[in-house]
Amino acid sequence: MSLPLMKNYINGEWVESKSTTIGDVWNPAQGEKIAQVAYSTAEDVNKAVKAAKEAYWDWRTTPPLTRARYLFRLKEAFEENFEDIARVLTTEQGKAIDEARGEVRRMIENVEHATGVTTLMCGYTLEDIATDIDCMGHPQPMGVFAAVVPYNFPGMVAWWFLPYAIVCGNTFIVKPSEQVPMTQTKIFEVIDEIGFPEGVLNMVHGSRDVVNGLLDHPDIEGISFVGSTPTAKYIYQRCGETGKRVQALGGAKNIVAVMPDADLEAGMPSLITSFYGCTGQRCLSGAILAAVGDAADEIVEKFKAAAQAVKVGDGLEEQTAMGPVVSAAHKERVLGYIEKGIQEGADLILDGRDCKVEGYPNGFFIGPTIFDNVKPDMTIAREEIFGPVVSVVRCKDLDDVIDLINTRGYGNAACIYTNSGATAREFKYRAKPSMIGINIGIAAPMSFFPFGGAGNSMFGDIKAHGQEIFKFFTDTKVVIQRWF
Ligand code: NAD
Repeated sequence: MSLPLMKNYINGEWVESKSTTIGDVWNPAQGEKIAQVAYSTAEDVNKAVKAAKEAYWDWRTTPPLTRARYLFRLKEAFEENFEDIARVLTTEQGKAIDEARGEVRRMIENVEHATGVTTLMCGYTLEDIATDIDCMGHPQPMGVFAAVVPYNFPGMVAWWFLPYAIVCGNTFIVKPSEQVPMTQTKIFEVIDEIGFPEGVLNMVHGSRDVVNGLLDHPDIEGISFVGSTPTAKYIYQRCGETGKRVQALGGAKNIVAVMPDADLEAGMPSLITSFYGCTGQRCLSGAILAAVGDAADEIVEKFKAAAQAVKVGDGLEEQTAMGPVVSAAHKERVLGYIEKGIQEGADLILDGRDCKVEGYPNGFFIGPTIFDNVKPDMTIAREEIFGPVVSVVRCKDLDDVIDLINTRGYGNAACIYTNSGATAREFKYRAKPSMIGINIGIAAPMSFFPFGGAGNSMFGDIKAHGQEIFKFFTDTKVVIQRWF
C-alpha cells in the first residue's frame, strides 16, 4: 500500500513538489512508516516566496480588524477540529494524547491573543516636540516572514509567530519539521477552509536546503526559528549575513531544584511531569534534579518511586502518561547518553533501556531513567539529552544550586520547589534563565507573555509571542511633521 505524501500549500493551493528526495514519517509507538514527505526544491521555495510577496500589498492594506476576523474564524475552526489535530499530532510525534491536546490548546491561545492587534499594534504620538512640530511612530508590517520549527511541538511552535505576523499585515511561510509534517498539514487543511486571501499563508516541507533557501531569499524580511542550539546559532549568523530580522530559540539544560523545606507530596506530580512529560522532549523539561541538603536521600527515594509508576505506552491510549521518543535514531542517541553516564561513573538507579510495551514490539520506547550522584562536569549534566533521563546532582545549599544553573551555558528555564518566600525570591533574582518556575515544574509562559531563553538557549532579542512579538513583525516608521 502506498503511503500518503505530504503536499506543500502555496498560493491557496495544495501542490506536490517535483523533488525526488523523499523522507519517511513514522508512528513512533508502532515503529512503522505512515507517510512520506518531499524535501522541496529551490523552485518550490521560490514559488512560495513569490506568492507571499504578491499577496502582501493587498493584505497589508486590509484593515487590522478585518485581518483579525480571519483569526476569529480560524479559532472556531480549530475548536471544531481540535481532537483530530491532537490525534494526528500524537500519531506522528508520540506524546501522550492529553499533552497533544494541551499543545493544540496553546496554539489556539496564540490565535486568540493575536486578535488584540488593534491595541497591541497601535503606534504613538507626541505633539510639540519643538514649536509647531509633532512626531508620530507608526508600526508598519514589513513583507514576507517565515518560521522554521522543531519536531517536538509539531502543532504549536509555528503558532508562536504566525498569527502575530499575519495579523500585523505580513504574509507568511511555515517550514515544519520533516520528522513530523502531518500535523501542520492537517492545520493547513483547516486554514484552507477559512478562505484566507491566496498567498497570505504558505507551507513548504523539507529539510536544511529549504531552510537555506528561505535564509538567503532576498524577499524574506525575517526568520523565526525554534530548534537545537547549533542550528539556532547557524540561523542567527546566516540571517546576520543576509541582513534579516531573526529570533532563534535553541536547546536547554534545565535545572529543577528541590529544597529541604519543599512540600514533596504536593509537588511530586508536577516534578514528574517536568522530567518525563513529552518523554523529556521539551525545551522546558527538567533535565537535572538538584536535590538539596540533608533532604536529598528522601527526595531521590520519593522521586524514584513516582518515576517507576509512570505508565509508558502508545500516546493514543488515554491511560498512557509517557509515549515513545520520536524516532529510532533519537532513541539510539538517548541510549548513547545513558551509556556515557555509566562510563563516567554516575549511579544508574533507574534503568529505562529495556522498556517493553505489550503489543508494540517495534516502538521507540525508553522507560523513566535516573542517574544519582551526577557531577556537574559529567557529559549528562552538561549536554541536552532530550529524553526521559534524569541526572540527580546533590547540592549543599542554594548557592550551590545557583552556581550549577549559571554554569550550564544554557538559559531557558529553572525551577525551584520550596516553602520559603525568601528562598524563592533569591532564586528568581540570581538564576540567569529567562523562565522561572516556583513550585511549578514547567515554567511555560502563556501566549500573552514572552517565551524564550538566555545564553545558548536563544540568539536574538525579541522572544516568541507576548506583547513584544508585535515589534518583531513591524517596523516603526517615524513621521515628524510641521504645517505652515
Ligand atoms: P533541529 O535543530 O534539528 O531542527 C529544527 C528545524 O531546523 C527543523 O525544521 C529542521 O528541518 C531544521 N534544520 C535542522 N538542521 C538544520 C541545518 N543544519 N540547517 C538548516 N536547518 C536545519 O531541532 P529538532 O531536533 O527538530 O528539535 C529539538 C530541539 O529544539 C531541542 O534542542 C529543543 O530544546 C529545541 N527546542 C527549543 C525550544 C525553545 O523554545 N527554546 C522549543 C522547542 C524545541
